Formats: sequence, C-alpha cells, structure tokens
Amino acid sequence: MWLSLLAMAVLAAGFYYRHQVQEGYRYVGKRAAPLRTIITPVPLRFKEILKNYFPYYNQLKPDHKRKFERKLVYFIFSKYFIPRNFGGVTDEMKVLIAASAVQLTFGLPRVFMAHFNRILIYPDDYYSEITRRYHRGEVNPAYRTIVLSWRSFVMGYLQPTGTTNVGLHEMAHALRLQNIIRVNEFDFFDAELLDVFDQWADRVCAQMEEGGVRFFRPYACTNHQEFFAVAVENFFERPAAFKKELPELYGVMTRLLNQDPMTITQPAAV
Ligand SMILES: [Zn+2]
Repeated sequence: MWLSLLAMAVLAAGFYYRHQVQEGYRYVGKRAAPLRTIITPVPLRFKEILKNYFPYYNQLKPDHKRKFERKLVYFIFSKYFIPRNFGGVTDEMKVLIAASAVQLTFGLPRVFMAHFNRILIYPDDYYSEITRRYHRGEVNPAYRTIVLSWRSFVMGYLQPTGTTNVGLHEMAHALRLQNIIRVNEFDFFDAELLDVFDQWADRVCAQMEEGGVRFFRPYACTNHQEFFAVAVENFFERPAAFKKELPELYGVMTRLLNQDPMTITQPAAV
C-alpha cells in the first residue's frame, strides 16, 4: 500500500518535473529567437510558401527579400502558434501569418510586436460569448494574444485588391498597442506624426458623415484604433486609389510605417 502510494507520488513528481522541463525548453526556445534567427538558415519550404502565396514578398528586390525572410523567421521563432478547434498549425499558417506582420513592419527594423507572443488560430470565424457575434480576429493585450480566423485571413489575401484584410487589420491593432506598451519595443512612432494621423481620421470621418468622400468603409470611424487598422488595409490593398483619393493621409502613412507600397521595390530606408 505504502509502496504503491510512494510509486504514485514518484510518478506524479516525475510527470510534473517533465512538464516543467518541457515548459522551460519552450520558454528558452522563444527567448533564443534572436540567436536562432542568426544561426538557422531560412528553411527552403518557408521561401517556397512565400513565393507561391505572398505577392508583397515577390515584388521585393533580392536583398530586401532576404531581409524579409530573416524578419519572418524571427517572428515565427519568437511566437507561440496555438490551434483552436483543429489539429495542428501548419507551416503555411505560420509563414503567411508572420508574413502579414512583416509586411506591416518591414520599414520598422527592430519592431516585432514583442508583447504579443501568442497567435491563436481558429479554422473559421468564431463565436464570442462576450460580444455574441462571430469574429474574424481580435487582439487581446491582457493575454498578449492575436486571434485570427484562418479562413478570413486567407480570404483577405485571395482578393488582393479588395478593401478588407483581417491579417493586416489585426496586426495594425497589435502594432499601435505595441507602440504604447512599455517593453523593449515602444514609442517607435513619431508622436507628432501619429497625432497628425488621428487629426486626419477625424477630418475624413466628418466628411464621410456629411456624405462626402467615402473611401473607407464606415466601420473605420468607430474610433482612432479602427481607423488606423482600416487605413492600413487600404494602404497595402489598394495604394494607388488611396494615394489618388487622400494623398496627404497616404503620405503620413508612408512616413509612419517608413515604406511606400507604390514603390515597394525601393522601400524608403529599410
Ligand atoms: Zn479592428
């Protein structure tokens, strides 16, 4: 009796210890992301996925492609990708979700949205008990998590000249939040320029209310955060139309993000 109890205790302790060790390895693995990025060659299959599915990457010059790949690998190594309601996260999911973050931050060399270390993926739009609605994605700073519906994510890139892209939208929310979260990366946006951006948001939304320019979908005018996220979608999805319709606001965005999708073959100062 005592012996079996002891054996069970040893087993339980062993299991607990193994779990701790595994957690430790995972933690160290993520902490080692900068080093792993330097010493690990970019996996060929990652490059293949980018080549097959990511037009932004394909438009870059060879040396910028290499920069993109490095940033992508860093992003993948430093985040936990967690599947919800399906078996396992595929390389395609990791690479393409990381690619949308890299697309947005390509002009901001040291920004990886470090606060958000968990990417939660649902196979399809998911029901929220809190809002009682279906969601395509969200960002939760308290849980350091970016949530995405894979189906909606893919749809955003399948219609490259559409006006919605949930990947870019949620990454934009994370980026703007990261700018004010005091970890190693913050305050990378020029504060004055961000103010100018928000003033433009108010101006454009006032015009929309009066029945003027309707370049953005009305949801953009929910608040400054949503305006920023919707503007980011349009900035990358239809830059020519954006520049034509609202050239000053487009210019502010090129300065904030330090890149211009219209001349993507020569990003400003990457
Ligand atoms: Zn939003």
